[in-house]
Amino acid sequence: MANEQFFVRFWGVRGSLPTPGPSTVEFGGNTPCIEIRCGDRVLVFDAGSGIHPLGDLLWAEGIKRLDLFFTHTHYDHIGGLPFFAPFMSAETQIDIWSGHTEDDDTTTKALVKKFMSPPFFPVPPEIFKAKVGYHDFAPGNQFDLPGRVTIKTIALNHPGGSIGYRVEYGGKSICYITDTEHVPGKPDQKILKLIQDADVVIYDATYCDSDFEKFVGFGHSTWQEGIRLCKSANARKYCIFHHRPSHDDAQMREIEAHAQAMFPDSIVVREGMQIIP
Ligand SMILES: [Zn+2]
Ligand SMILES: [Zn+2]
Repeated sequence: MANEQFFVRFWGVRGSLPTPGPSTVEFGGNTPCIEIRCGDRVLVFDAGSGIHPLGDLLWAEGIKRLDLFFTHTHYDHIGGLPFFAPFMSAETQIDIWSGHTEDDDTTTKALVKKFMSPPFFPVPPEIFKAKVGYHDFAPGNQFDLPGRVTIKTIALNHPGGSIGYRVEYGGKSICYITDTEHVPGKPDQKILKLIQDADVVIYDATYCDSDFEKFVGFGHSTWQEGIRLCKSANARKYCIFHHRPSHDDAQMREIEAHAQAMFPDSIVVREGMQIIP
């Protein structure tokens, strides 16, 4: 029987900075990396420090083909890239994708090369043994991957830009919207359209409405805005994501209780958690 699985698994949920230690054991300290499986296809979104343990799992499973999508290339979303084990397997095909605005037309290949270069990194991407394909798209593009997977994209409101994704498979959908700043009272129409009737929405909740004012211009949003968007767009489940580095497990549990009182099907995602739409 064909493998029809569809799920998202969280390998890094912390925003901005890795925060290992006793106060973050429950929710996790690795920076953004999520895995979405669509049948036999493995999709990876972002290469924060969470991509390191994911790489070990994919290596152990003997995965020979995967696609890696960047939302953008701030350090917390790319820092783990050189430490992703599948890059060191000569039998593996890895396709890397990123979206570019007119202001920034640096190609995906150039971004990776720039990131893995002196004085920031000791060795260039040429050390990779895998067959690496680099792909570029413009925000708003939609494309199909072999295996009946559809990817829809939008531009987000973040310094330097970021890409929001919607992955559709077998009539279900998972949306990954991180690193975006909202304008209070003016819901982002592009996001609302992208997440309309979605089964799972992962959304940047670095801040809370009560402290948001202090961080205008930093490029992030609040868990309350995530709930408002999910309610307006009739999305089913809200995954609170990109946790603030200063928030410990007790604070995250408190946020979760408040969020669930407003929108019962919301959850503060924990590292290692798997959600089936
Ligand atoms: Zn980030
Ligand atoms: Zn960012």
